[in-house]
Amino acid sequence: MIPFNKPLLSGREVEYIIDAVRSGKISGNGIFTQKCQAFFENKYGLKKCLLTTSCTDALEMCAMLADLKSGDEVIVPSFAYVSTALAFVRQGAKIVFADSRKDHPGIDEDKIELLISPATKAIVPVHYAGVSCDMDKIMALSKKYNLIVIEDAAQSVDSYYKSRPLGSIGHLATFSFHETKNIISGEGGLLVINDDQYINRSKIIWEKGTNRAEFLKGEVDKYEWVDIGSSFLPSEITSAYLWAQLESIDQIQEKRKHIWNLYYTELIDWAEKNTIKLPEIPSYATNNGHMFYIVCNDHDQRLYLTEKLKKSDILAVFHYQSLHKSKYYKDKHDGRPLPFSDYYSDCLLRLPFYFELEDSDVKRICSVLKSVFNDNGK
Ligand SMILES: *Cc1c(COP(=O)(O)O)cnc(C)c1O
Repeated sequence: MIPFNKPLLSGREVEYIIDAVRSGKISGNGIFTQKCQAFFENKYGLKKCLLTTSCTDALEMCAMLADLKSGDEVIVPSFAYVSTALAFVRQGAKIVFADSRKDHPGIDEDKIELLISPATKAIVPVHYAGVSCDMDKIMALSKKYNLIVIEDAAQSVDSYYKSRPLGSIGHLATFSFHETKNIISGEGGLLVINDDQYINRSKIIWEKGTNRAEFLKGEVDKYEWVDIGSSFLPSEITSAYLWAQLESIDQIQEKRKHIWNLYYTELIDWAEKNTIKLPEIPSYATNNGHMFYIVCNDHDQRLYLTEKLKKSDILAVFHYQSLHKSKYYKDKHDGRPLPFSDYYSDCLLRLPFYFELEDSDVKRICSVLKSVFNDNGK
């Protein structure tokens, strides 16, 4: 049986968790939390990093920092995870859904400007599969209309746009360490603050609306309730797991890119012959080996391939059903059709992808796919 995902134990996770427990401090913002935050700040030039309990939480913090109010509009791709929209809806914002590009599941940068109104406050590009959106175009719109850019970089650890690390370009950015991502801690996330004006308030929101950070630095003599916020800090147990992963990030990334390249070379001829699309990496972006997907010709073909794989004990999954058609939001959506979001919702299939996936597994998965059109599947 080849599962879709398998969480990685890279080596020292358990040792560090024991260290955290023995240190006598397992609540948040201890030594492991600070080490992880410093790692991201130093390695990727991210101005201020705060670990959170999830990427969803980090997105909620962004919605609070942007001071969104009822009636404010936020532009979000419809082909995205629920949290990418939900975090802003909870703050009262209206989501204006954007379509995907024809050649890539990411947001169509050239169509964003049409969606901007006087009520627009923020744009939330998702770097789908860790492949960067064209950030120059998005940052130019941000400048022209004075909009906050929040990069949903949940899948984008160690990936770049024109040599700039993802997460370092928007005013704010978020990462995920959910067990399905490249670097994991079970549940976990990171808020990145690149714009100075949000730094102080982000620490208050992170610490349940208190000025505890200033208190710990001796800047005030008591800490008290000063703003909105919530309990966004992960425990040191989570951060200890994450620290072990970060120590192994180079090996993890190397192996994942190897798996991705093997899938690509095994499948490219078959894909071309059968008009199935493989992921394309634009010249301004890098590939961080987050996921490997194929785009089928239609929904039925995807179902057929998924079943074929399942019969060979291989679990392939699809994901992201257009958010503008979701049960929760469809009546709130303004009715515009978003055909490319629907296209990827219907046709994209993700193949098993995890660190321990062997070359022989990848070859077996590909040989099942390659056998399909010989058996007259379609
Ligand atoms: C995984 C993911 C999230 C949610 O991350 P959590 O850490 O599970 O909250 C949000 N956005 C995108 C694009 C994701 O891939």
